[in-house]
Amino acid sequence: MAKKISVIGAGVSGISAAAHLARKGFKVDVYEKHGSPGGRARQFKTQEGYTFDMGPSWYWMHDVFEDFFFLFGKSYAEYYEIVDLDPQFEMVFSDGTLEIPREYHQIKQLFESIEPGAGQRYDDFMRDAKYKYEISMSKYIEKPCLSITEFMTWDILKSALRLDLFTDFRSFVKKYFKHPKLQALMEFPVIFLGASPQQIPAMYSLMNYGGYALGTKYPLGGFYKIIEGMVSVAESQGAVFHYNHPITKINTSANHVTSVVSGDTLIETDAVVASADYNHIENMLSESNRNYSETYWDKRILAPSALLFYVGFDVPLAGLKHHILFFEPSLDDHLDDIYKHPSWPRDPLFYVCCPSKTDTSVAPENHENVFFLMPIASGITEDSSKHEVYFDIMLSRLEKHIGMVGLKEHIDYKKSYCVSDFERDYHAFKGNAYGLANTLNQTAFLKPSIKNRSLKNLLYTGHLTVPGPGMPPSIISGKIVANEVHKLLKR
Ligand SMILES: Cc1cc2nc3c(=O)[nH]c(=O)nc-3n(C[C@H](O)[C@H](O)[C@H](O)COP(=O)(O)OP(=O)(O)OC[C@H]3O[C@@H](n4cnc5c(N)ncnc54)[C@H](O)[C@@H]3O)c2cc1C
Repeated sequence: MAKKISVIGAGVSGISAAAHLARKGFKVDVYEKHGSPGGRARQFKTQEGYTFDMGPSWYWMHDVFEDFFFLFGKSYAEYYEIVDLDPQFEMVFSDGTLEIPREYHQIKQLFESIEPGAGQRYDDFMRDAKYKYEISMSKYIEKPCLSITEFMTWDILKSALRLDLFTDFRSFVKKYFKHPKLQALMEFPVIFLGASPQQIPAMYSLMNYGGYALGTKYPLGGFYKIIEGMVSVAESQGAVFHYNHPITKINTSANHVTSVVSGDTLIETDAVVASADYNHIENMLSESNRNYSETYWDKRILAPSALLFYVGFDVPLAGLKHHILFFEPSLDDHLDDIYKHPSWPRDPLFYVCCPSKTDTSVAPENHENVFFLMPIASGITEDSSKHEVYFDIMLSRLEKHIGMVGLKEHIDYKKSYCVSDFERDYHAFKGNAYGLANTLNQTAFLKPSIKNRSLKNLLYTGHLTVPGPGMPPSIISGKIVANEVHKLLKR
C-alpha cells in the first residue's frame, strides 16, 4: 500500500510538493483552507469583468517554471503563453523616468548614456551576476540545508569564494555605479528578498541576472494560469486536492504525527508536509514539539507586508506601462519605516502594475486593470482609515505621471487588502506578505529547518523555508521537501 502524505496548503510550494510526492508513488492529499489553489498567488474575478492576480506580478527566472513542467514530461506552453515585456519596467524619479528595455545591449547603452563607462561596468556586473546565478542554481538552491556540512565540498567552497557572501548589496553596487539612478535600478531587485540592500548579501546580484538579463515576462491570462497548470500536473500524477478543508489540529503520538483534523474529519497519515506559514503550523503543536519559540520568531527579519489596491478604471490610461516603480522620495526613508522603526511610511514608495496593457483578457475593452502595492512593515498596527489616505497619495502621483486628472471618477471597481487580510487568509505571522527576508543570517541552513526536530514525519515547505520568498523559490522548496519525505519513508 502506498504511504499516505497530507499536504497542508495548496500554495505554490504545496502544489509543487504534492506533484513531486505523487510522482514518487505516494498517495497524496492536499488540504487547502480556501475554495481555490494558489495561496498568495490566487486570483479573483469581479462582476465588472476584471480578473485580478492577488499577489505575484513579476515573472522572473523562467527557467525554474520551465523545469517544473519539464520534470513531469510537460511544457509550460501547454498551460500558458508568456510574452516578453518591452520595456521590462519603468522607474519614476522626482526628476524623470527610466525605461528598462528588453534587450541586453539596449540596457547597456542606457547605462552608458547616464554615466560614461557604466556600460562596460554593466557588462562586468552582469558577468559576475550570471556566474552567481548559474552556480546557485546548479549547486546550492536545491540543498535541504539541514546542516552546514552539505556545503563542505571542495567544489562548493571554491565557488563560494566568488559569491560575495560577506559584502552587503549596497556597497557592492556602489563599486560599479556612481549615479544614484543606476544604483537605485540595480538595488531594486533585492527588495524582492525582503530586506534593505544593506542587509542583503551581494550574492543576490544573481537576481539582477535572473531579472534584467533573462527578461521580465508575463503569463497571458495572469499568474493564476501557472497555478492551474501546476495543479493539473499534480493531479495527473495522482494528487488529490481538497478545497475548503482547513487543517485545525495535528495529532501526535510519541515522536510522530499520526493524523490531521479538518472539520469533523480525522485524516490518518504517514507524513505531513506543511506548506502553510511555519509559525501557524507550529502553533498547532505542543510547545515541546515546536522547533522554535515565539522569541525566535520575534527576532526574525520578516519580509514586508503590503497595502494593496485592486482597481478597475473605465477608461484607457494612456501612458501607463505594465510595471511602474515610483521611486520618487527616498528609498532609505521608506525602508527605515519598514525595518528600523516600523511605522506607516511618511512619504511612500510604491509600485503599480497594469496587466491590461499586455493582456486584454484581464479587463473589459477600454478599461484598465491596475494593482497598487505599497510595502509596509509586517506586524504594524493596521488602521483602515489610513488606507484611503495612501490610496489618494498613490493615485495623485499616478495622475501626475501619466498626465491625466480626475481618475477617481473613472474607478468602477476597488478593493483594498492589508496586514489583517494576510493574517486572516493565510495565517501569516504578523501579516507578512512575502515570508522571511533573505539576509545572511536567514539564508540556507540559517533559515527555519524543513524538518521538525521531534516529530520525525512532519516537514515544512514554502517561502519561510529554503530557498526563500518568491514563486520560483517556492516551487523549488516543494521539490526539496518531497525529496526529504522520500528519503524518510523509503527507510
Ligand atoms: C502582494 C504580493 C506580491 C508578490 N509578488 C511576487 C512576484 O511578483 N513574483 C514572485 O515570484 N513572487 C511574488 N510574491 C511572492 C509569492 O507569491 C510567494 O512567495 C509564494 O506564492 C508563496 O507560496 P507558499 O506556498 O510558500 O505560501 P502560500 O501562498 O501562502 O500558500 C500557503 C497555503 O496554505 C493555506 N493554509 C494556511 N493555513 C492553512 C490551514 N490551517 N489549513 C489548510 N490550508 C492552510 C493558505 O490558504 C495558502 O493557500 C508576492 C506575494 C505577495 C503577497
